[in-house]
Amino acid sequence: MGITTPAAAKPYNKTQVNRQPNFIVIFADDLGYGDLGVFGNPNIKTPNLDKMAFEGQKWTSFYVAAPVCTPSRAGLMTGRLPVRSGMCSDKRRVLFPDSNGGLPQTELTIARILSDNGYKTAAIGKWHLGHKSPYLPTDHGFDSYFGIPYSNDMDKVEKTEYITLAENERFEAYNVPLMRDKKIVERPADQRTLTKRYTEEAVKKIRELKDDHFFIYLAHNLPHIPLFRSEDFKNTSLAGIYGDVIEEIDWSVGQILETLKKEGLAENTLVIFTSDNGPWHTYKTHGGSAGLLRGAKGGTFEGGMREPTVFWWPGKLKQGVITDMGTTMDLLPTFCSLSGTELPGDRIYDGYDISPILFGKGKSERDVVFYYRGLKVFAIRKGDYKVHFITQLEYGRRTAHFITDPEVEINNTPTVQNPPVLYNLSTDPSEKYNIAGEHPEIIEEIEAILEQHLSTLEPVENQLEK
Ligand code: MG
Repeated sequence: MGITTPAAAKPYNKTQVNRQPNFIVIFADDLGYGDLGVFGNPNIKTPNLDKMAFEGQKWTSFYVAAPVCTPSRAGLMTGRLPVRSGMCSDKRRVLFPDSNGGLPQTELTIARILSDNGYKTAAIGKWHLGHKSPYLPTDHGFDSYFGIPYSNDMDKVEKTEYITLAENERFEAYNVPLMRDKKIVERPADQRTLTKRYTEEAVKKIRELKDDHFFIYLAHNLPHIPLFRSEDFKNTSLAGIYGDVIEEIDWSVGQILETLKKEGLAENTLVIFTSDNGPWHTYKTHGGSAGLLRGAKGGTFEGGMREPTVFWWPGKLKQGVITDMGTTMDLLPTFCSLSGTELPGDRIYDGYDISPILFGKGKSERDVVFYYRGLKVFAIRKGDYKVHFITQLEYGRRTAHFITDPEVEINNTPTVQNPPVLYNLSTDPSEKYNIAGEHPEIIEEIEAILEQHLSTLEPVENQLEK
């Protein structure tokens, strides 16, 4: 019997043998659960994401930390609920160009932790965790940054309705800065080529860092409105401009996976694709679809916080459809586990190591998801059951649209549900049939989870109200 050497047994690229894995997180903005082919969209073609899911894992119950940009991103970056870092508020949903706060230096980002363990790091795209120092990506463990530091609809300088501006492709209407590290290099950013330029930057970084181990965070500004796409993707989709934008993002995913394959890095790189929150229904056909899920961006029904998610790591992941719960907050502990980095022991983490699920070797410890809106827990999922303690209309469920400031709530107050509302997400994923009357014991159990959770919170300075 011959001896098989590890080198012969593992088809890794030579330069990556025994190396810590690379991580790439591709984060879309306001993409709906039903917007990808592999998640059931009949009109938007996403062959690269479909193939990525086929080669890897399609996660059907993957959540974010909040149903809106800033707190959702804080959750991903820190592995902790945004309420612990002061990155959510009931007064201002997100950071704005006039905000003075941001992710505090006391928070340890994925980039900081991995960077301290020898990783090279790059952030590309939307940041939205503070656009002033010391809140920028390069203040938080990233070696480089290229992108718009907040949402692409901010700094609006033309009063015309959004929809008209979109039809005329008036990117000048939004005086948003494009930054390299801490310098503004273009203003207004030409948003028509943003997805293309972010992709080129990501491909360049992969090639530049291929002899190191790296973490690349590619956070597209789109499909958050205003929608723009490059010349190559104009009117290519059956689903109008929104479909064009998604198809360009899908092209981008293809470019990145192709580069990893060409550079011999695919089998040592975990790539994750997901989105920061659900579709923005305020903008009708310029917003996406949550598919069979109820709700949208801003709300705590499933459509606001359950995201179309794909994991890819050829030759490593157990291929298939994963119905276990996961969240973006699980990425930090999982990356620590996979890279042999110790998880800091001085703070509470809300994420869990999901690597056993990736390799088909077990489950994670996660059995509960909290649905926060601002500072309050509106709902909790435990196993198949979800209890809504408070409900409120999501963005876009108001009478005014297009010219209304979409981040400001109008005539839309929270309703405390007493008794709470209970759904079984396994048999009723669209949250249609309240079964609270049949299962008072489940509501009691989840109420106890809420109480225990609230006892772990400590007061922190609010960063969105500064
Ligand atoms: Mg968003």
